[in-house]
Amino acid sequence: MNRMTHYHISIAHPHQQFIKFRVLFSGLPENALIHLPVWRPGRYELGNFAKNVRNFSVNYSDGAAIPFEKTALSTWSLKNKEHQVVEVSYEYFAAELNAGSSYLNAEQLYVNPVNCFVYCDQNSDREHLISLEIPEDWIIASSLKQESRVLKAADFHELADSPFICAKHLVHGEYTVQNTRFHLWFNGYQHVPWDKLIKDFRAFTNSQIEKFGSFPVDEYHFLFQFLPYKAYHGVEHLKSTVIALGPTFDVFESLYTELLGVSSHELYHTWNVKTIRPIEMFPYNYQKENLSRLGYLCEGVTTYMGDLFLLKSGVFSLEQYLKELSVQFQKHLDNPGRMNYSVANSSFDTWLDGYVPGIPGRKVSIYTEGCLLALATDILLLKNSLGKTGLDTVMRKLYEDVAQRGKGVDENTYWNYLQTFGGDEVKQLKELYFYGTNDYTSLLQGVLDLVGLKLEVVPSARISASLIGIKYIPNGANAIVKNIFPQSPADLSGLMLEDEIIAINSLLLGGELDKWITYFKEDKIVLTVQRSGRLVQVDLNIGASPLGYKDYRVKKLEQLNEKQKLLFDQWIQ
Ligand SMILES: [Zn+2]
Repeated sequence: MNRMTHYHISIAHPHQQFIKFRVLFSGLPENALIHLPVWRPGRYELGNFAKNVRNFSVNYSDGAAIPFEKTALSTWSLKNKEHQVVEVSYEYFAAELNAGSSYLNAEQLYVNPVNCFVYCDQNSDREHLISLEIPEDWIIASSLKQESRVLKAADFHELADSPFICAKHLVHGEYTVQNTRFHLWFNGYQHVPWDKLIKDFRAFTNSQIEKFGSFPVDEYHFLFQFLPYKAYHGVEHLKSTVIALGPTFDVFESLYTELLGVSSHELYHTWNVKTIRPIEMFPYNYQKENLSRLGYLCEGVTTYMGDLFLLKSGVFSLEQYLKELSVQFQKHLDNPGRMNYSVANSSFDTWLDGYVPGIPGRKVSIYTEGCLLALATDILLLKNSLGKTGLDTVMRKLYEDVAQRGKGVDENTYWNYLQTFGGDEVKQLKELYFYGTNDYTSLLQGVLDLVGLKLEVVPSARISASLIGIKYIPNGANAIVKNIFPQSPADLSGLMLEDEIIAINSLLLGGELDKWITYFKEDKIVLTVQRSGRLVQVDLNIGASPLGYKDYRVKKLEQLNEKQKLLFDQWIQ
């Protein structure tokens, strides 16, 4: 019997948000194991999607039931015979709408298959078909091959990596760069400024392809989900990306730089992580954590390059680019975790707490610290090769010499290339900064200076942050303390996280903490806070410490010498 898997999907009552699956497995071994992925590539933590499954059942095509039991949280062990078609049925609750999830309502069926498609290892290298029972006037946006209402994937990896949106109002446009077609899909959005959009997308797409020499796949789809509320999220796939952005009215206004930034980032992932892949995830194992210390390569280099390509291609002005870069400096220097945990170890630990703030000062971010260290790596590579080879060259080497030869990348391979092109000065970054917790402010200031940039540091514009050392969120008229700068007046005075500041010198805050601090800054300050159900007085000694939050901005030097001018030009080439 030919081994294959055929999914039948129906959405009879979309307002209830359950996608109904009937999956026909042919050629299963006796007593097969059926799995649902426990995580999704792009988010390196457990997702445990099986919690969204109900009414799981298994039978033969004549309707006779097949006994089964769960032997792991996302694994069903069947008591089936060989050489019989096995039918697995279940319902999946699709009620989360972000760039990596699945969502169903009366307007759309949006599916990230890695969330909700069960699979069997023995069949996973064979063809997978999806038959969709959806309204006749709905359009399907997907990188999968389509024949009427049937989608085809060559194997389970392709299926798991190919999200699709089915909806009535899908707006489509496209452009071609170097013989590759790029599709742009907008779900329910009518006001696309096509000329501007395609000009910008073509520019950064072209720049990226030129630096890598070729595009890894034959076509590509940008799937946009614009949301009516604040949203910023993109997820990479080999032949597509899903980008969730909002609020809708701002996506081509104040959020347009974000739209460009996330789109360029996700496109860069087509090479970096979808093709150039850490060996620990090569291939992806959907049944357990895929622990890797190379997050600084996958996400750090991609974060750095995503924005840099917008500058290189002329889509961003230098001012726009430096604004985005300054955000990374701000996040890095605000986070005391940089003194406690390396970016390599933080990469390993994304599976633990990589997508939440986590406990104070524990860790850093593969995006932020990875980006800043990629900047340092790139500029030092350029300096040491007299502008000939930067990080672009190393990435192209990984693409051509490793990825295109069907291999995963390990840490040594990456560092050997960096050493080959950048010498010992680049090699020593590894132990000091990537795997160590040494302060790299002066390293960053040094590389900025090489290309005629500088880091400007001023006290934080918010007086509560600069003078007292706290960040807070408003709660009605009060203020809840969310961050405390180590050794700042707030820290030394015993203020605690989650303290809700109600009054200052017995005067109610009225939503104006910063104005009251300015008013009382020369005086003694006593805060009244609510702490775990009690009222507590905190004496705030402002003079006790000069430490507090600062604002960081990367700027161009007024005067550049010849060397700086030359390296700057080579950097943004
Ligand atoms: Zn990314």
